[in-house]
Amino acid sequence: MIDATQPVLQIGEIPVTQLAREYGTTMYVYDAEEIEQKVNSFRQLMHKDVHLFYSLKANPNPTIVKWIYELGANLEICSPIELKVVKKLDIDPNRILYLGPGKTTAEIEEILDYGIKYFVLESMQEMEEVNRLAGLRNLHVEVGIRFNPNMSAKGSRLTMGGKPRQFGIDEDQAQQVFEFAETLSHLDIVGVHVYNGTRILSGDVVIENTKHVLTFVKQLYHTCHFSLKYVDIGGGLGIPYFKNEEELDFEYTASGIRSLIDEFHSEIGLNLPIFIESGRYVVGESGIYAASVLYTKESKSVHFATLDGGTNHHMAAGGMGNALKHNFPIRVLNKMTEPEVRPYHISGPLCTPNDVIAKHLSLPHIERGDLVGILSAGAYGLTSSPVLFLSHRLPVEVLVYKGQSILIRNRDEYEAPELRSLEAWLQEKQQLGGYS
Ligand SMILES: *Cc1c(COP(=O)(O)O)cnc(C)c1O
Repeated sequence: MIDATQPVLQIGEIPVTQLAREYGTTMYVYDAEEIEQKVNSFRQLMHKDVHLFYSLKANPNPTIVKWIYELGANLEICSPIELKVVKKLDIDPNRILYLGPGKTTAEIEEILDYGIKYFVLESMQEMEEVNRLAGLRNLHVEVGIRFNPNMSAKGSRLTMGGKPRQFGIDEDQAQQVFEFAETLSHLDIVGVHVYNGTRILSGDVVIENTKHVLTFVKQLYHTCHFSLKYVDIGGGLGIPYFKNEEELDFEYTASGIRSLIDEFHSEIGLNLPIFIESGRYVVGESGIYAASVLYTKESKSVHFATLDGGTNHHMAAGGMGNALKHNFPIRVLNKMTEPEVRPYHISGPLCTPNDVIAKHLSLPHIERGDLVGILSAGAYGLTSSPVLFLSHRLPVEVLVYKGQSILIRNRDEYEAPELRSLEAWLQEKQQLGGYS
């Protein structure tokens, strides 16, 4: 577990300074036991018919994905490269859910060939395309449909469905969808998917949301002709980042969902599997991003500390290009118990004024060589950041388990394009007579 009570932050009992010496900065470090605890408590507390699907989008590092899978979670994927990752890991296609609003023909072919069991479609044209490709393969495929219901959960801070969306098919078109499916001979609708929000910290909002989704599905079940085999109620389980935010009460949330599912099952007279998708909740709190302080200085009475990495590795901490309104949980990792002495602006190495990950943040006295870290950085860190912007080095990724650490991504590991010789290319064109 991540222990912030020691003078030096510890991850699974290893001081982060030791990891920084061993692997260098910049780096992402994850605690495998923290992930384990999240997956286990999810599986213990949720209704027995609820299946967790981990969303690779949050953190697609293959070692982490495999770990979560081996702990018993299924996987939710949305792109050809995510599919490449799960294929390489030899993941059972019966434990994968695939969705996304813009699947290409090649992508659909690959999904069909791998035999992914939970295949969710988002438009009628996509249904037509899948039916055509299944026909060419002499296949009969079972699919889920993602719906955009006309609803809004009361008391929610999030905008729910009911507005124009590129995702899913509007509730008002449901009758049409099922009628259309009747005309497609290689496709059957067996699943219903709704995903309405993210980063929810109120158990009541999650419960209310689930209630709306299950009411919607019940209505579909009674009015449309299809054989329902699974329901995906989305998720949106959040983690706190900012000072005014509190941890989601997971036990309370799970118990609320449990009674709704029991009610749903008895009303439709079937015990269907119910899916919940989650990325952030599963991995978010397991990770920290650590960078070294290169320089400190004062500019017009504001104290700055400049790190060897910043928004290029963790864009969200910089406010995603918007004004930075709230500071992420950022600490001086080797001075956890020292008193705060003054406010700092924490900046990265990029030549853009937006590369600031904290403003007016009260911290202990910062010196060159200190380690500054973003806590709760396990989800949407590296992969949702502009890592190529200004072309600085990419961080390493390290996983800690049972007092040991392993490198799970080498520094600068990404697929850079190879050097091409423009001169050789021009010569070749000239020989072909292209430019004479
Ligand atoms: C992004 C996304 C998720 C994961 O969201 P988290 O907030 O990380 O749990 C799950 N399902 C769908 C459809 C998504 O778009």
